[in-house]
Amino acid sequence: MAGDLGSIVVAVDGTSGSGKSSTCRGVAERLGLRYLDTGAMFRAVTWWMLHHGVDVHDSEAVAARVDEPVLSSGTDPTGPTIAVDGTDVSAAIRTDEVTRAVSPVSTVPAVRARLLAMQRDIIGAGGIVVEGRDIGSVVWPQAEVKAYLTADPAARAARRALEEGSSDVGTTEQVLRERDRIDSGRATAPLVQADGAVHLDTTSYSLDEVITLLAGLVEQALEPAP
Ligand code: C5P
Repeated sequence: MAGDLGSIVVAVDGTSGSGKSSTCRGVAERLGLRYLDTGAMFRAVTWWMLHHGVDVHDSEAVAARVDEPVLSSGTDPTGPTIAVDGTDVSAAIRTDEVTRAVSPVSTVPAVRARLLAMQRDIIGAGGIVVEGRDIGSVVWPQAEVKAYLTADPAARAARRALEEGSSDVGTTEQVLRERDRIDSGRATAPLVQADGAVHLDTTSYSLDEVITLLAGLVEQALEPAP
C-alpha cells in the first residue's frame, strides 16, 4: 500500500500499561506526526464527573451529564495537553482515584459516542498516531497501520509502578488486570485486536526497540506496492 505520511493514520490499541503512550509519542516524534491519547480524554471526562460529585458507577447519572465538560486535546507529541473547561488536567487525570474510576465511566455508551465524534474530528485529515482501546476496531478501522500492544501483566505492573514511584507492584498489577477485565468485557467498543492489526508483545523489548518496530510498520505502509 502506498501512502503519504501527511495523511497516514496509525491506530495503536492494547492493554493498560503495555507501553502504548511512550511508544506512540516516540513514533510520532520520530516521524513528525501528531499524537492523540484517547485514554486521556476518557480520564478527563472521569475527572470531571468525580469533580462534580457524579456517581461514576451510576451509568445513567454519567450519561445525563456527559455533554457538559468542554474538552480540549493538544496533539504535539513532545508535549501533549488535555484541558477540561479551560483547566489543564494533565496531572489530575493520573491520580489513583481517576485510574480506578475510568473503566466504569468508559463503559457508558453516551460517553463513548461523544468522545468518538471528538476523536474522529481531531484525526481529520490524518498525519497522526492515535492510541486507545478501540481505535483500529471502531474509531478509525480504515487506518493504514494498526498495531495491538500487549505485555506480560507482571512486567506491565513493574513498569507502571516505576513510572508512578510506587513500591506496591502487587496492587498496581491488580488495578491493571481489573481495568483490562472491564475494558475487554464491555458491550460497546471493547478492547480487541482489530482486523488487520499487528500484535506486538512488548514484554522483552526496550522502549526504543518497540518504537523502531512500530516506525518500521509505518515505513512499510508508505512503500509503493510492488
Ligand atoms: O490509556 P489509558 O490507560 O490512559 O486509558 C484509560 C482508560 O480509558 C482505559 O482503561 C479504558 O477504560 C478507557 N479507554 C477506552 N477507549 C479508548 C481509550 C481509553 O475505553 N480508546
